[in-house]
Amino acid sequence: MLGTWWAHWQTWREDRAVARRPIRDDLWKRTLVRYPFLRRRDAADQARLRRLTSLFLDRKEFSALGGVKLTDDVVVAVAAQACLPVLRLGLDAYDGFLGVVLHPDQVLAPRSYTDDDGVVHEYEEPLAGEAVLGGPVMLSWRDVRTAGRSTALGYNVVIHEFAHVLDMADGVPDGIPTLPRGIDRGTWIETFGSEYAAFCERVDADQHTALDPYGAEGVDEFFAVASEAFFVSPPALVTEHPAVYDLLRRYYRQDPATRLAGRGPE
Ligand SMILES: [Zn+2]
Repeated sequence: MLGTWWAHWQTWREDRAVARRPIRDDLWKRTLVRYPFLRRRDAADQARLRRLTSLFLDRKEFSALGGVKLTDDVVVAVAAQACLPVLRLGLDAYDGFLGVVLHPDQVLAPRSYTDDDGVVHEYEEPLAGEAVLGGPVMLSWRDVRTAGRSTALGYNVVIHEFAHVLDMADGVPDGIPTLPRGIDRGTWIETFGSEYAAFCERVDADQHTALDPYGAEGVDEFFAVASEAFFVSPPALVTEHPAVYDLLRRYYRQDPATRLAGRGPE
């Protein structure tokens, strides 16, 4: 009985949060038009996504730098894309992060490395986003805004950074999110390890890859770029890394490639 009471109370609390942060019909329609990978969902999934987006806006803090205005269009664009990976997992999966910081454009982060002769080289790396353990997620609004157009390249900065949030939920950025009981950790490590090694070889050989070559930076980045492709250009991931697609399908509890196949051309 306690379980039923608890579930009712949770739903009541969520209903109140959704009422505090409603998303108008016209704004929701505009968001679906701008981001086709959100639109390619059945009505039930779209309704679930809209509700989660309201909850996200209610729970998470947004801040902006460099003149970005936090209009309803802006925050809904971020929140709706961020909620897609947790459509089945629920927002609690994002408990480990505080909020979103929007910059107008990519940010130059100071970096350095020491070469074989011990000489330190300093340089700047442009970042479209960054997820910090226990902190906020930084995003370039220019990259968020144009995410509808970059789907053909399998590129999506919001999904990339929120995949890192899921990965880091256990405190370690290692490309292994908190796995449900049905997915064997050893299988995950083995599959991602061998697919990552094969991917790095292709990137080193300058071969074209469906996934962003940035994924060769580390197995945690490989998980993040594979997650981007999983949601925005799933057929490409199925073709190049079917075993990775299958694990992500079971982890995210979504099957975007099949949904896409069933819908015909868009
Ligand atoms: Zn990354």
